[in-house]
Amino acid sequence: MKFISTRGQAPELTFEEAMLTGLARDGGLYVPAEIPTMSEDEIAALSGLSYEETAFRVMWPFVSESFSEEEFRGCIARAYEGFGHVARAPLKQLAPNHFLLELFHGPTLAFKDFAMQLIGQLFQVALKRRGETVTIVGATSGDTGSAAIEAFRGLDAVNVFIFFPHGRVSEVQRRQMTTPQDANVHALALDGDFDDCQARVKDMFNDFDFRDGVKLAGVNSINFARVLAQVVYYFSAAVSLGAPGRKISFTVPTGNFGDIFAGYIAKQMGLPIDQLVVATNQNDILHRCLSGQGYYKGDTIPSISPSMDIQVSSNFERALFYAYGQDGAAVAQLMDELKSGGFDVSQGAMQALSETYASGRCSEDETMSTIRSQLANSGELLCPHSAVGAKVAEERRDAATPMVTLATAHPAKFPAAVEDASGVHPPLPPRMADLYDRSERVTRIGNDLATIEDHIRKTIAN
Ligand SMILES: *Cc1c(COP(=O)(O)O)cnc(C)c1O
Repeated sequence: MKFISTRGQAPELTFEEAMLTGLARDGGLYVPAEIPTMSEDEIAALSGLSYEETAFRVMWPFVSESFSEEEFRGCIARAYEGFGHVARAPLKQLAPNHFLLELFHGPTLAFKDFAMQLIGQLFQVALKRRGETVTIVGATSGDTGSAAIEAFRGLDAVNVFIFFPHGRVSEVQRRQMTTPQDANVHALALDGDFDDCQARVKDMFNDFDFRDGVKLAGVNSINFARVLAQVVYYFSAAVSLGAPGRKISFTVPTGNFGDIFAGYIAKQMGLPIDQLVVATNQNDILHRCLSGQGYYKGDTIPSISPSMDIQVSSNFERALFYAYGQDGAAVAQLMDELKSGGFDVSQGAMQALSETYASGRCSEDETMSTIRSQLANSGELLCPHSAVGAKVAEERRDAATPMVTLATAHPAKFPAAVEDASGVHPPLPPRMADLYDRSERVTRIGNDLATIEDHIRKTIAN
């Protein structure tokens, strides 16, 4: 299977090449040239399988030219063995026909572990075979960075530099990034917000001298391998609830649009998804856009669901690519307009988007009251991101179709907000109870490309 860029100008790559490259050289994002499908029988046969076996069957058609079956099965097994729940992505019930998909049983307590743990294993196998080393850079609003550091630490063919917005991540998130002591992983606190972190990472990829010099690789949610890993739990959840015999809806707390775009891929593969609902916090550019108001950047307003405090949602480019009938030139033009503030979506593309995605917004007050009411009504203590999802899901769901809300993080990752809302202090799981006692290692850095590149060159030369 070949992978093509959303801007139509970069060379076609294999899965392995697209994974190791991240961002395409024309500034676009890689997507499969064709999305493989699963028949109803193949989907029905997933019923009762382990998460790992489901993962293998769903992902195999995308990767089979890059990995042997044995290599790929080994990567999946190692990726998920450290999870704290044998089902990996268990379902709980919140209300009649409303379910919670718990994606927070990985090593850093957020759904990012599903993709990052797998990509760590895949990088290791691919680089070993090639005899290469790479430098991974990533921007994080909190959870991606810790998941990446956890997934790559100790792998000596890889140096990892993670940029997070100084002062804008929770203490648990920061400590998960700054406490691993392995010499190949580096946490950097950037003077700026998440969009600045993301913009500097993009700048590094567009500086081809630097990119080739340090062999840059990216594992942000633009990496298609990450999207692919997230497709799996849409299948496992839907099949548990009666797919393919019955349609299932999903609501996804959304920031960079990676997680919900995985739902789109699942639907294109043949999973009978009814509604795919984008849930945003007060940073609601996606909700405004999907409501027909165009895609115009505002200022990011810090919220109690910080992993969704995003204005430029990188994976939305992939949604636009399909909505514009895979017209790379049209997407390239929109992204150009975005540099000067934003763009309107064409009528045809708006129609295509609204056939796939619904959306809703949840205010800060509503997030707090949802944490309270869910605890009272279902006994579940939600993290603020998952609460945004649950609130929007309650508004959007219909009685006939099961609704699954993705629980994207463990409440203990955001203890201050959860305790404020509910009066209950969410304890860390026993396996990481000593997090507050571990020593931290972090470099503060200015929001300046030359300074950042210099720092990376010097660090890897040592
Ligand atoms: C990353 C993250 C999100 C947003 O996911 P996207 O794929 O960026 O849309 C939501 N909640 C939590 C807890 C996250 O870490």
